[in-house]
Order: sequence, then C-alpha cells, then structure tokens
Amino acid sequence: MTNKYMYFIANWKMFGSLSSLNSVTKVVRFLKNFKKNKFLKIIYCPPNTLIYPLSKKLMKSRIDIGAQNCHEQESYGAFTGSINSFMLKNVGAKYVIIGHSENRHAGESDKMINKKIKSALKTGLKIIFCIGETIHERRKKNTKSVLSKQIRLGLMNIKNKKDIIIAYEPVWSIGTGIIPKLDDLSKIIYFIKRKVRNCKILYGGSVNPKNLDKLKFIKNIDGYLVGGASQDSKKFIDIIKKTYN
Ligand code: PEP
Repeated sequence: MTNKYMYFIANWKMFGSLSSLNSVTKVVRFLKNFKKNKFLKIIYCPPNTLIYPLSKKLMKSRIDIGAQNCHEQESYGAFTGSINSFMLKNVGAKYVIIGHSENRHAGESDKMINKKIKSALKTGLKIIFCIGETIHERRKKNTKSVLSKQIRLGLMNIKNKKDIIIAYEPVWSIGTGIIPKLDDLSKIIYFIKRKVRNCKILYGGSVNPKNLDKLKFIKNIDGYLVGGASQDSKKFIDIIKKTYN
C-alpha cells in the first residue's frame, strides 16, 4: 500500500481512432470514485489526431493530455508533416513525450532531443523525457554510461528541470513482456535520481497488471509509462489499483 504521488502515463503510440476514446470514459469514472485519487496523475498521450477530441472529453476531469513527440522549432515553419509544441498546446496538450526509443531508433539524435525539450519547455509544455539502453548496450555492461550520455546531452544547458519527468525505458523491455530484475531496476532508478536531482523518475517497458505485483515493491519509482496495456482501460485501471493495494 502506498500513499506516494504516482504518475500513470498512457502512451497509445500509433493506435486509436475516435471510437477508442470511449474506453477513456471508464478511466474517468474509475478515477472519480477511487479513494486514492489525490495521490496520482493520469496523463493520456494519444496520437496527435485525438488530442483535441480527447481534451474536450477530459475537460472536467483531473486527467491531463500529452503528445508523443514534437518538432524542435516552436514557431511555425515549412516543415511538411510536422507539428510543434505550440500547436500541441493549442489543442490541449500539457505534456509531450520526447526521446522515446522508437524515435531515437528512427534517427532522432541526443542533440535534436535537447532542442525539442528546450523548445517545448519554452512553449510551456511539461516533458516526459525517455531514456534507456538497448540489449546490446546492456550485454556490454554499458547501461550506466549510455544513460549518463542521454541525460547529459538531452538536458544540456537546461537548468530548471522542475517540468521534466524522466521515464527509464530499457529498449529490450518495450513491447517484449520482459521487465528488468527488481534489484537491477531499483539500482538504476537510484542511479538516475542521483544524476538528475529533483526529477520524478518513472519506469516504462511491458508494464501490465501481472508484473505490477512485483514492480510495486520498488519504492523509488514515481510511476509508470505504459504502452500496450494502456489501450485497454481495464488493464490500465488494474495497474493503478494494484499500485495502491
Ligand atoms: C512505451 O512504448 O513507452 C512502452 C512502455 O511500451 P510497452 O508498455 O508496450 O512496453
């Protein structure tokens, strides 16, 4: 049982249509009646097409909305297919995920991530900054050096980190059903907390109601970034319930 303030962030990735928003209604209803609701923050990060309708739907709730990425330039520009942080804020986003491994894999560099974070902060969005090592880096025992580099370059010249949440997402854990050993995970979260003081540190990677029975014993985690399981409102609610049981 915990009374700690926890974040539950739903990353829907490239899934969801207007009809998917019905499932959020169940989560809104659950949150209203949940006794521990003062101790948690739910943030939905749907695809950009759903930010506006979801923000209308959640207007009277305590649930916030985030985007999954943004362009690094905060003003308008000739960047076909891109959306900047200002445009996301304009349609209801309060947060934005930056540095997700799927985008790093697609070519996003630490330098670009740093630019995006600065631009989104300037716009007034809060940041969910993802870091994590690949299986190859882990096998070579480079996890700590990889994380240090991602943190150093991603947060370069950003003094005020109060609007930054860090999500530790080992790449080998995303979508695989595998989670780190609890002891290893607790040590890594501690390592990150010492590197970036005063930031909330979340865990992400195959979080589901079953493995939450284990994860909830890691006391230094400030919440979860949930991919696949967040699209199923029952699973998402179960993750929240189990955290507080
Ligand atoms: C993610 O992509 O941020 C994630 C955590 O995915 P999953 O929960 O599906 O592993």
